[in-house]
Amino acid sequence: MNSIDETHNPARTSWITSAQSHPDFPIQNLPFGIFSNDGGAPRGGVAIGDFILDLAALAQSSLLDGAARQAADAASGDSLNPLLALTADPRRALRRAVSALLDSNSTHRDAVTPMLHPAIACTLQLPARIGDYTDFYVGIHHATNVGLLFRPDNPLLPNYKHVPIGYHGRASSVRVSGTPVLRPHGQLKATHAPAPELAVTRRLDYELELGVWIGKGNAPGVAIPIEEAGQHIAGFSLLNDWSARDVQAWEYQPLGPFLAKSFQTTVSPWIVTAEALAPFRIAQPGRPEGDPAPLPYLCGVDDQAQGALAITLEVTITSERMRAEGHAPLRLSQGPASNMYWTVAQMVTHHSVNGCNLNPGDLLGTGTISGPTRHAYGSLLELSNGGAHPVELPTGETRTFLEDGDILSLSGRMEAKDRVSIGFGPCSGLVLAAQKR
Ligand code: CA
Repeated sequence: MNSIDETHNPARTSWITSAQSHPDFPIQNLPFGIFSNDGGAPRGGVAIGDFILDLAALAQSSLLDGAARQAADAASGDSLNPLLALTADPRRALRRAVSALLDSNSTHRDAVTPMLHPAIACTLQLPARIGDYTDFYVGIHHATNVGLLFRPDNPLLPNYKHVPIGYHGRASSVRVSGTPVLRPHGQLKATHAPAPELAVTRRLDYELELGVWIGKGNAPGVAIPIEEAGQHIAGFSLLNDWSARDVQAWEYQPLGPFLAKSFQTTVSPWIVTAEALAPFRIAQPGRPEGDPAPLPYLCGVDDQAQGALAITLEVTITSERMRAEGHAPLRLSQGPASNMYWTVAQMVTHHSVNGCNLNPGDLLGTGTISGPTRHAYGSLLELSNGGAHPVELPTGETRTFLEDGDILSLSGRMEAKDRVSIGFGPCSGLVLAAQKR
């Protein structure tokens, strides 16, 4: 598991004043992403306050050596896959070097200043070329709520408490935060209609999830033991698994989601590293009395002791009219990320148990993270109880599902006693009207 070091020191401040009390990017975070500015080539950067530190420029400087330079070199291209392919050691060395350079006590301020770019003038893109994207279903309250809507007599299928359920998602349509989502077409079939029709979805929804970025891969045929799963997890972001519920309801049996999900998935642009998250590790909540114990290959002592994360997740919405009238975003839900029945390490271990190889830059989604009560439900399907109970907006408008012009945003806040809180940055998207066919 990841250890605490000087980079997590809550007393450490940066000479970049906007980093102090920054909600997402104080000096204790230092997430990695890919940015470009002024027509330049996309390259790796580190978020610090309101700025981005250019890792390609840093790699060319004389400020780094050894493993830190190796990691910065690997982050100098237009994707972070080479950085992700390294073990955690060079990544941690770069984190420690960058932290020291940005520390208020650093003597390298003049040398580093030209490598900083105002984030507002930069364009962020996907942090990695995603070879494969797998979406899990570990939010047990979501699985139960949705199960109740789709199968009232049989909400949680018998495999749920034995298998970390997942399916292979679509990597080509994963987009970075800020990319609008086009309302998709699909096959819809009303319950009593004799036949389906091709139409624009009327039940566009979001799903609040964590994204997991795979670091070092495993060789084909070689399973990842639960004790080693953490070595393959480079970091985390927020993930919105946009979903067309009417398409989903018609198409999902027997093989699961397909076009209801594959039109777009949105991730936040920054990979918050496993190292940055070390102070926010907490015990995996115990299973309720009577639940089966996982099979031994999914049981790790360390994983159970610190395999969950102290992250508060939140979803907000604005409609076009709310923005025009100057209303603040409306919070749709708020809840802890610990509402996961399986840990991320269990997801990784299970994914590889059949010999499937994971690659650097692969993306896992946790599945929708809902809490046990309505204020922590992670989708409109749940909040509106399948469309039966609309959510009221401050304008008097109502929502059962998303309307064109809505902006949906996810956020996450990592908090622990005596620690500086960090965040992911934005994960948002504007809903655009469907294209005419
Ligand atoms: Ca999902």
